[in-house]
Amino acid sequence: MIEPHRHCLNCGISIPPDKVFCSDKCRIEYLKKRKAMMRTQYMFLGIVVLILLYYIITIFLK
Ligand SMILES: [Zn+2]
Repeated sequence: MIEPHRHCLNCGISIPPDKVFCSDKCRIEYLKKRKAMMRTQYMFLGIVVLILLYYIITIFLK
């Protein structure tokens, strides 16, 4: 039988089921990564909105 356990959200190693990260370092690293990922998503969204705006403007200028 495998003991109940979780995996660290940052590095994936086995940790006790009452924990989410194996260490504070991993927690901070994960939060940083998530923030960077969210920033990338917002940037992508911004580009999509700009492209849509460009199309809408060119349609109206015709
Ligand atoms: Zn970890």
